[in-house]
Amino acid sequence: MSTTLTPMLDTAALEERIALVACGERPGKTQGCDSCRRKGAILLNIASTGAAEAVAATICGTGNRPGCYDCRDKSVKIVRLYNGEAA
Ligand SMILES: [Zn+2]
Ligand SMILES: [Zn+2]
Repeated sequence: MSTTLTPMLDTAALEERIALVACGERPGKTQGCDSCRRKGAILLNIASTGAAEAVAATICGTGNRPGCYDCRDKSVKIVRLYNGEAA
């Protein structure tokens, strides 16, 4: 196996990446906080359904769709990440 491009990140890596986006990306920040990382698997699951609003509500922590503007922005990124598009 010598591929230059990875077609899909493995789930654990994707989960970490999603947690980071949910937490809020910042230069030099390589991973989300514990609480966001705990949500990573759930977010990944919801992202697989393509329901960005549900992702946003989960990040926001209110459970109310569609979440605030900030979380909606992150949720769109997360769904894109899940679909293998660079965010
Ligand atoms: Zn966080
Ligand atoms: Zn929010």
